[in-house]
Amino acid sequence: MSHPEPRNAFVSPRFGQIATFMLLPAVATAEGLDVALVGIPYDGGVSYRTGARFGPRAVREQSSLIRPWHPVLKVHPFERLRVADCGDVDVAPISIERTYAAIERRVNEILAHGAVPVSVGGDHSVTLPILRSLARRLGPLGLVHFDAHPDTWDEYFGSKFFHGTPFRRAVEEGLLDPRRMVQVGIRGPLYGSEDFAFHEQHGIEVIRIETVKEQGVARVGDRFGRLRGGPVYCSFDIDAVDPAYAPATGTPEVGGLTSYEALTLVRALAGQALVGADVVEVSPPYDGPGQITSLLAANLLFEIVSLLALGK
Ligand code: MN
Ligand code: MN
Repeated sequence: MSHPEPRNAFVSPRFGQIATFMLLPAVATAEGLDVALVGIPYDGGVSYRTGARFGPRAVREQSSLIRPWHPVLKVHPFERLRVADCGDVDVAPISIERTYAAIERRVNEILAHGAVPVSVGGDHSVTLPILRSLARRLGPLGLVHFDAHPDTWDEYFGSKFFHGTPFRRAVEEGLLDPRRMVQVGIRGPLYGSEDFAFHEQHGIEVIRIETVKEQGVARVGDRFGRLRGGPVYCSFDIDAVDPAYAPATGTPEVGGLTSYEALTLVRALAGQALVGADVVEVSPPYDGPGQITSLLAANLLFEIVSLLALGK
């Protein structure tokens, strides 16, 4: 297979055809890539609103507006890295077990080619098999987790696997190093104060939304120093952002990050040893005019790819 050409010039948004992520080349495998973008159109793990299965499609469409130069990080990611759209994982909409197996196979394949997996969900349950694949190769990972919710509950309706449990499972399975784990943007009504007993037990840091708003993004960014010392995964649940900016999501919580804060906080990961990332929980049927949630997700994707290009 020939290597896809880097996308080093602005390409006009395409009208009337299905876009790829950021108008990058569409490829069948991650061979020859530095960064493999992949869609995971699965929302069988949600507890409330469905629709995140359409996330990858909508983010691809909105990402056609992304231009190739990052003026703050001063990087041209598509010149430094070979990045392409590897299509969607073949999920099984009625089976989370088979979907997990399919995701893990796909991430294994990406890692076997030496590429960094960057995924667009799908609901948050899809992160667990990604972490399984990465941790098998790299050992326990650091994690920065942007979300309104801790996603460390134990079970729901008797099931251990849904979008509210992936990070408890990941800690239990030894995929994450909880001392290098930070959750950002947590807020909203919970079941009880015991919802954070797991965090206290494992020493997981929680940066609630009040801290972000009171201390500002720069000081929060300083706390990402805790992630250092090993490989880091970034998982961005779009509901970390206020529904005024990102209404299209399964379990919206008011009082969240602005889009600007979200972009700036992701940018604060510059210098971390990022080995993978995802943007999840975009549910396009709930989007507002202008598809603002998918547009934000597309820009977060560009931030992440730009971070990966730093130092290359
Ligand atoms: Mn989540
Ligand atoms: Mn959430």
